[in-house]
Amino acid sequence: MTTPEHTSPHDETQMALDNPVTRYPKIEPPKQDQPEPGLDAKLEPRADHGEDSYQGTGRLKGRKALITGGDSGIGAAVAIAFAREGADVAIAYLPAEEEDARKILRAIEAEGRQAVALPGDLLEVEYRNALADEAARQLGGLDILVNNAGKQIAIERLEDLSDQQVIETFQVNILAMFAITRAALKHLPQGASIINTTSVQAYEPSPTLLDYASTKAAINAFTKGLAVQLAPRGIRVNAVAPGPIWTPLQVSDGQPKEKLPKFGHNVPLGRAGQPVELAPAYVFLASAESSYVIGETLNVNGGKATP
Ligand code: NAD
Ligand code: MG
Repeated sequence: MTTPEHTSPHDETQMALDNPVTRYPKIEPPKQDQPEPGLDAKLEPRADHGEDSYQGTGRLKGRKALITGGDSGIGAAVAIAFAREGADVAIAYLPAEEEDARKILRAIEAEGRQAVALPGDLLEVEYRNALADEAARQLGGLDILVNNAGKQIAIERLEDLSDQQVIETFQVNILAMFAITRAALKHLPQGASIINTTSVQAYEPSPTLLDYASTKAAINAFTKGLAVQLAPRGIRVNAVAPGPIWTPLQVSDGQPKEKLPKFGHNVPLGRAGQPVELAPAYVFLASAESSYVIGETLNVNGGKATP
C-alpha cells in the first residue's frame, strides 16, 4: 500500500495517476459524421462512461432514478454510476439508439439493479407527459430525476437557422424538461433530487449554437427558480454544466466537422472531457450528502471561467 510518506513527489508514475491533464487522453478525433442522434457504438474514438473504472460506495442505495438520454454520453455515465451506487435506473432514449441503450441496461443489471428501458421521442407530447409515470410504475417509485436529453445542431449563419430547428431544439431541451418535471412531482417524495444538464454554452454561447445556447440559458433560469419553489417541499433542484465532453452529440452535427480534431483543446486542461468525469457531480447532487445544496450549478468544464 502506498502511504503519503512513501510517495515521492518526483515519482512520475504515481503523480500521473491523479494529474487531470493526463488522467484521460488528449483526443484528436477524425472528422466523422453520423445522422442525428448519433451512436456511441460508432463513435471514434469511443467515449469512456466509467464501464471499467467507476467504483460505487453505496451512496444511492435503494434509490430510483429516471435519466433522459441515458443511452450514451453523459447520461450513460450517470446511469452506470447510479447503479454502482445502489440505485435502480430507468433510461429514456430515442428508438434509433436501442443498440447503445442495451449496453447501458446490461451494465445496470450487472450491478444487480433494476434497469428499465423507456424508448420514445421527446418531440411527442404524449410520450414526454407519460415518461415519469411510466418510470415510477416500473421502478415502484421515483426519487431522482435527471433531465439530460439534449439536441444540438450547429448552424453557421442565422439566415440558415430554420424556425423548425429552433422549435425542435426548444422542444427537446427545455419544453420537455417542464413537462417531465411537472409529471414527476406526483411521484417525488421529500428528499428527492432533480438534476438538469445545462452547459457552459449558457454563458459562453458559440456563434454556431444560437438556439442550443438559448435553451441552456433557459434551463439555468428554470433550475434556479424551481429550486426555490421546491426547497420547502424537501425536493432539491440543481444543475450540472459540462464543458466540451466527447459524446455522439458532437459528431451528429453538434460541431462543425472541421472542428472535431481539436474538440476541447481550448480549455485550460487542454483536452476534451470524458462522460465518466461528469458522473461524480450527478452522484453528489443526487445523494443526501448534498442536502444543503440547492439551485447550484456544478461546472465540470476543464477550467473555463464561469459567472
Ligand atoms: P448524447 O448524444 O450522448 O446524449 C444526448 C441524448 O439526448 C441522446 O442520447 C438522446 O437519447 C437524447 N435525445 C436527443 N433528442 C431526443 C429526442 N427527440 N427524444 C428523446 N431523446 C432525445 O450527448 P451528451 O453530450 O451526453 O448530451 C447529454 C446532455 O449534455 C445534453 O443535454 C447536452 O446538451 C449536454 N451537454 C453536452 C456537452 C458536450 O460537450 N457533450 C456539453 C454541455 C452540455
Ligand atoms: Mg445517444
